[in-house]
Amino acid sequence: MELIDGIAVSDKLKNDIAQKVIELKQKGKKIPHLAAVLVGNDGASQTYVNAKVKACEKVGFDSTLLRFSSEISELELLNEIDKLNKDNSIDGYIVQLPLPKHIDEQKITQAISPAKDVDGFHPESLGKLVLNLPGFLPATPAGIVEMLRYYSIPTSGKHCVVIGRSNIVGTPMSLLMSRNATPGNCTVTITHSKTQNLSEITKQADILIVAIGKPEFVTADMVKEGAVVIDVGIHRIEDKSKKSGFRLLGDVKFDEVAPKCSYISPVPGGVGPMTIACLLKNTLLAVNS
Ligand code: NAP
Repeated sequence: MELIDGIAVSDKLKNDIAQKVIELKQKGKKIPHLAAVLVGNDGASQTYVNAKVKACEKVGFDSTLLRFSSEISELELLNEIDKLNKDNSIDGYIVQLPLPKHIDEQKITQAISPAKDVDGFHPESLGKLVLNLPGFLPATPAGIVEMLRYYSIPTSGKHCVVIGRSNIVGTPMSLLMSRNATPGNCTVTITHSKTQNLSEITKQADILIVAIGKPEFVTADMVKEGAVVIDVGIHRIEDKSKKSGFRLLGDVKFDEVAPKCSYISPVPGGVGPMTIACLLKNTLLAVNS
């Protein structure tokens, strides 16, 4: 079993990006600038946004964090989005999800200028992904593709099973694995909460990508011997023995699944760091779009 080290892969990607920033500076060109919109005080969202802003600083990007109260109305937030779309100093921006219930996430996502859509959630970005055209790929699925590439994990002709069909992970992931590209060219099965006999399907997977959002859902009996397992899930579980007061778990029961795998990504230290690195990659791309 080989561990997929998301920290090492993301460091390599971030070093390449930092080098490109140095070259831009030397040529007197604009430094990439990422803005992040955070609504409300959700602890996990704050942690994710802070990590993204910190990562910008590390590679030499400019960054701006815009915080709004959870009381902000949908119209007020749309006005803020409009300002960001018109602000030439900002190359790309993200709106951290989830948003408070009174705000329609789809409306907000669709208001983001496709040229600044570094999360890759806008319908235009998703359409480009479907058509295999260059564009902003959603950061988490793109990060998983980069991990498969880094470890030269064969994908062509393999059976890839994706658990979960969310707009930000499962659905774009299944599209990326099935398209005519390397990594890609898999035969893909996408599963969801209405799927019957899930473990019969997961046991057929050469590559199993788990984005179900349930801690330690995937157990050893659901996995084929020698499979590649990618764990997207991330859960904070209260743990008083830790300084932070919590520990992180994935969607996969790591200790019992890992011995069966050819490769497995851990939580933490797997997909999470890759998501941030791919967001930075998209921001660099946004400077030229
Ligand atoms: P989500 O929107 O809650 O989607 C979960 C998916 O799992 C849904 O499609 C759901 O099906 C499916 N599902 C639920 N129960 C199921 C069951 N019993 N059998 C099969 N499928 C089932 O979650 P998400 O946004 O994709 O995120 C998934 C996990 O990844 C979460 O833990 C999240 O925190 C984590 N995440 C991590 C990163 C990172 O950077 N590491 C990034 C994004 C997300 P239905 O569609 O039928 O409801």
